[in-house]
Amino acid sequence: RIEIDNVVKGYPRADGSRLSVVGNLSTTIEAQEFVCVIGPSGCGKSTLLGLLGGLRRPDGGEIRFVGERSASGPLTSIVWQDYALIPWRSIVDNVAFGLELRRVPTKRRREIAREHLAMMGIETFADAKPHELSGGMRQRAGIARALASDPEVLLMDEPFAAVDAQTRTLLQDELLQVWSQHRKTVLFITHSIEEAVLLADRIVVLGPRPTRIVEEIRVPFPRPRSREIELDPRFTE
Ligand code: ATP
Ligand code: MG
Repeated sequence: RIEIDNVVKGYPRADGSRLSVVGNLSTTIEAQEFVCVIGPSGCGKSTLLGLLGGLRRPDGGEIRFVGERSASGPLTSIVWQDYALIPWRSIVDNVAFGLELRRVPTKRRREIAREHLAMMGIETFADAKPHELSGGMRQRAGIARALASDPEVLLMDEPFAAVDAQTRTLLQDELLQVWSQHRKTVLFITHSIEEAVLLADRIVVLGPRPTRIVEEIRVPFPRPRSREIELDPRFTE
């Protein structure tokens, strides 16, 4: 599990003062839990994800990864909203990238990458370049890349925000399917409360900057996880 303990994070401003972004945030994310984070624009959601991914260091407090490692790969990997694929590399070599960093031999890492492309249903695009794919296909590649290195925790920053509504529905279903098979811990940032209700075990609602948790909503088990769910009126904006 991940223990987020009184984490504080800010950025230096041009005038020498400090912009306080994350203000004293504490929560625990259980192993294999699917947590959705929602909050106003600019409140610090991506900053929080960067802290969890080890891309940024907190100014105060601590983030602890506790317990046994079940995956063989890195602790975390990130799926970005804008896919962040390397444009001059083929899709299969994009997906293999994390394994390359871990010095997995070329043949083996292409094999693993192809398995993950197949899992996301885009194996026919293995040799294509990212610009030849639609947004939905690129994001499938982004998810395949994140999963290929077998991380303990999958961090997703509004991964479906840039695709059309129909593709988003497909991607949500695919993600749930992958999640139920692989049972990763997932932290998923979204602007859409409907998406959060569909995907999450628990929804963490952040307030404006410096952000704190204003509400945590536990989605009851067995979760609806189907498109026929009746939304609580609180959830329809
Ligand atoms: P959005 O919903 O638009 O994605 P967010 O909740 O993800 O926003 P962040 O990207 O974490 O918010 O940014 C929070 C605040 O921190 C913003 O005011 C942003 O301008 C500022 N900020 C983010 N990264 C940096 C940085 N590297 N240096 C300085 N300020 C930053
Ligand atoms: Mg963001």
